[in-house]
Amino acid sequence: MKELIEQAKQAVATAQKIVVFTGAGISAESGIPTFRGHGGLWKEYDPNIYADINYFRQDPTYYWSFFRDVRVQGLVNSKPNAAHKSIAELERRGKLITVITQNIDGLHQSAGSKDVIELHGNTKLIGCQECEADYIFEDIRQQIEEQMPPRCEKCNGVLKPRVVFFGEALPDGAMEAAAQHTAECDLFIVVGSTLAVYPAASLPLVAKRNQTALIIINLGETAMDEIADIRIDAKAGEVLSEIVGLKQQ
Ligand code: NAD
Repeated sequence: MKELIEQAKQAVATAQKIVVFTGAGISAESGIPTFRGHGGLWKEYDPNIYADINYFRQDPTYYWSFFRDVRVQGLVNSKPNAAHKSIAELERRGKLITVITQNIDGLHQSAGSKDVIELHGNTKLIGCQECEADYIFEDIRQQIEEQMPPRCEKCNGVLKPRVVFFGEALPDGAMEAAAQHTAECDLFIVVGSTLAVYPAASLPLVAKRNQTALIIINLGETAMDEIADIRIDAKAGEVLSEIVGLKQQ
């Protein structure tokens, strides 16, 4: 492990244009459960139901109950951890082109990252399904305690977080921008993702096709372990703070 971390340290030190690609695992040390892997939500809440747009249209109550019971805690209590902070530090040092995240928790921005592509949206932004009115989480917090599903105060339409459900398109231009940065970088680092959700998971393949070095930091196996130049199976916060040399607070 020590040797792998040393190799990753060297790769980061010599790289000039890094892209970091993150998934749910990076936020696990902030107390937000992942889908898959140890302690993942998958077993309790089937994402083929609660994260499927067709199911949501039939019965938005199931999703909103999950949001109230699981997501609200994460939104209110979670703080960026050493992994988010290390990545923000790479940006401050001028080494990072962008963070591409599958996460919807906004913790990269809370850690100070400015250049963040959110492939799957952001759970703090809420939209009306009928009239497209915008809300933020705080606007509807009270309502979801009292009424299921929460509704638009202008037209009574059902509200939905502006996150990408299975069966929905990614936000306009997000994948194109992510692919462009991936093509430009000289080091691509995956953090906390099983690399199972497409099209996002195609990005490490784009990097490898361009002969860009690929580091994967993930607790547990991923779908692309075999093509990684450096594969570190450990907790993101501990590993990244060592690689970046971030002082533990
Ligand atoms: P995933 O759940 O498929 O995989 C997460 C991986 O992270 C697992 O292999 C897990 O073992 C690993 N992991 C757990 N703790 C870790 C740690 N401390 N350090 C490093 N790795 C750790 O996640 P995914 O690939 O991002 O795909 C799931 C989808 O679910 C994404 O599209 C994402 O939008 C969504 N999601 C987001 C959040 C969030 O915003 N925080 C949380 C759950 C799911």
